[in-house]
Amino acid sequence: MSQYNQVTPEIIVQLEAVTPGRVVVGEDINPDYARDEMPIYGVNMPEVSIDALTTEEVAGIMKICYDNNIPVTTRGAGTGLVGGCTPICGGVVICTMKMNRILSYDLENFAVTVQPGVLLQQLADDALTHGCMYPPDPGEKMATLGGNVATNAGGMRAVKYGVTRDYVRAMTVVLPTGEITHFGGTVSKTSSGYSLINLICGSEGTLAIITELTLKLIPAPNATVSLIVPFEDLKACISTVPKVFMANLNPQALEFFEKEILISSEEYLGKQVFPRMVSGVEAGAYLLITFDGNSMEELDPLVERAAELLVEAGALDVLVADTPPKLKDTWAARSSFLEGIEEQTTLLDECDVVVPVNKIAEYVVFVAQESGRHDFEVKYFGHAGDGNLHIYTCSNDMDREEFKKQVDRFFTSIYAKTVELGGQISGEHGIGMGKVKFLAQAVGPVNMALMQGIKRVFDPKLILNPGKVCDTF
Ligand SMILES: Cc1cc2nc3c(=O)[nH]c(=O)nc-3n(C[C@H](O)[C@H](O)[C@H](O)COP(=O)(O)OP(=O)(O)OC[C@H]3O[C@@H](n4cnc5c(N)ncnc54)[C@H](O)[C@@H]3O)c2cc1C
Repeated sequence: MSQYNQVTPEIIVQLEAVTPGRVVVGEDINPDYARDEMPIYGVNMPEVSIDALTTEEVAGIMKICYDNNIPVTTRGAGTGLVGGCTPICGGVVICTMKMNRILSYDLENFAVTVQPGVLLQQLADDALTHGCMYPPDPGEKMATLGGNVATNAGGMRAVKYGVTRDYVRAMTVVLPTGEITHFGGTVSKTSSGYSLINLICGSEGTLAIITELTLKLIPAPNATVSLIVPFEDLKACISTVPKVFMANLNPQALEFFEKEILISSEEYLGKQVFPRMVSGVEAGAYLLITFDGNSMEELDPLVERAAELLVEAGALDVLVADTPPKLKDTWAARSSFLEGIEEQTTLLDECDVVVPVNKIAEYVVFVAQESGRHDFEVKYFGHAGDGNLHIYTCSNDMDREEFKKQVDRFFTSIYAKTVELGGQISGEHGIGMGKVKFLAQAVGPVNMALMQGIKRVFDPKLILNPGKVCDTF
């Protein structure tokens, strides 16, 4: 029997008093609220959904749910890839998408304060109008900043600028009890006790609900240039990655992908951007490298040095994208990999392991060997500069249960290899409900017990986003 209570008509009346006209029940609930971008991990409707508008509303809803032992799941844009916002125990879904205002800039301190439903693209564009850049750049620009912080999203520019966590200065959160509290401040350093703010970053909505964020900005670089670098095969392509770092080229982004995934994406967009044949040789894999700086004069010698190194390392060619339309087309093709795969695939699962950069080649060989033992197709690409690989298992003809069984076996094996090589099972997508078992295997019982202890301190009744991350209670 469930440890939670169901939402009764009396509770709905109480919720209505907190968020008048926005308590949605039964068939009126948006079916999207039952899942995220990866429905393979389950689709489950909540009993109630509420689009919250203020911190006080979130606190009011939480207090009612805490008093009545009702499970609550927070969602942003639902673009997560691990079933993180899927309300697997029903209860109440709080959506923070409509808390979407950029509240204020503090340009003297390079900080911006936003509500959690502001979209990544919205902040990126707005910050530029103030001469600033918000460096985190995950592929899905329509995700919310609340979701980005909750998953500690990474993305393309992490190799130079770090991940979302590195840009969170302060936050307001609502605890599962309904209490409102504030972590951090507009300062660049702190040694003031345990870092509660860092516990919330990457906690995937299991410890608290984020209702306001103060994020760090940096001055926007004035010049950006991308290099499209085709290689004959994946081995030559990947073994070049550590050389780029050892030459101290400091790229803003360094992505790798194979021909097949690029073709899916370009077909999806209806536009070919990357060369397929170079001097009579067919390209099998590519690096896409971006450099940024104060001016093109500063970047030109860097690009020249990079081009020499890349050709020496076996690149078939080095093509420069240095105008806004070329940069846009190039990165649109890279950013549409998942959509390209989704369009061509019925059954889909994925993982986003991270291994040391100098182990990528060994790891990819292992993944290729393992994929040969299964009936699904495996496609992968990655943020090569971080050793973060996105591995997709795809099938159009397998039985669903058989697919899930084989994927489980495949993931068990490639996760074990990740740990053996000194890596982690998720670089940026998180654990959600899809990877709970694998997290337990990877971190072991002592670390799981620590995480579960932290969970209980924040959420003694275990009502916030049950069944996720370390929740095997
Ligand atoms: C095409 C595509 C490309 C992607 N590329 C990347 C990438 O490059 N890098 C990367 O890291 N991810 C990537 N993602 C995954 C996804 O976009 C990120 O995980 C993103 O951070 C999720 O944000 P969201 O608003 O959609 O959150 P949701 O999917 O709605 O929720 C994700 C998690 O955050 C929690 N959450 C949401 N809002 C709050 C809040 N206000 N308070 C507390 N918890 C909250 C939820 O409970 C859930 O556990 C990609 C996804 C797609 C579809």
